[in-house]
Amino acid sequence: MSDKKKLMDKSEMMEGGVAPGGSMSKLNTGSWRSQVPLTDFDECIHCMQCWIFCPDCAITIKDGKKVGTNMQYCKGCGICATECPVDCIHMKPVEDVSQEEFDAEDTSKE
Ligand code: SF4
Ligand code: SF4
Repeated sequence: MSDKKKLMDKSEMMEGGVAPGGSMSKLNTGSWRSQVPLTDFDECIHCMQCWIFCPDCAITIKDGKKVGTNMQYCKGCGICATECPVDCIHMKPVEDVSQEEFDAEDTSKE
């Protein structure tokens, strides 16, 4: 009898661990939010640091410029505000954000 360990066949492996590609797009991470990032576009220098650091790819870029934040996916973590070199992203509690402020930032319906 061989003392070699029998390797597990792929069909015997348990499912799980790695989700199929694109599955995160179905997860509405915006529902976790307690803070909203509001961008002062007069101060934004479109350096893309927020886009690079956002863990949910929620920063919307058009023609090389930041145009807003996709609130369906923004979970309000504040990393973008921390990384912005000119401090033009201000985190505000959800309950203090007016509909007008929210709509000016939100790109989820575009
Ligand atoms: S990090 Fe700040 S300055 Fe740079 S693109 Fe984002 S909001 Fe604009
Ligand atoms: S707060 Fe900023 S870094 Fe965090 S998920 Fe929202 S856009 Fe991305």
